[in-house]
Amino acid sequence: MMRAIIVAAVIALPPKHTPPFDGQVIVVPDAATFCGRPDAWGCASLLWTADEQGRTSYACVIHTLPIGTVMKRQVLNAKSHARLIEHEKAHCSGWTHERARL
Ligand SMILES: [Zn+2]
Repeated sequence: MMRAIIVAAVIALPPKHTPPFDGQVIVVPDAATFCGRPDAWGCASLLWTADEQGRTSYACVIHTLPIGTVMKRQVLNAKSHARLIEHEKAHCSGWTHERARL
């Protein structure tokens, strides 16, 4: 009998000292088309806007695969999706990790 073992997606959390992102966060399930990497659960981008007075602000746009996506025997369940959002928010705060992952 064949058994496929599927585990929750492994999402690294940023170091505790990473400053929190306190701006607006927008989550969009479009990682498959936006991130440009077929092996990424998600990625982040900054969306800059200006008001009528020309004051600029930015939002953290988090692009994810949809909850329930299975990739490499891992599933993006609700818990790993929440970790992914924390991970990508840290990127909006300036966190980078040496080896490019997600
Ligand atoms: Zn990352």
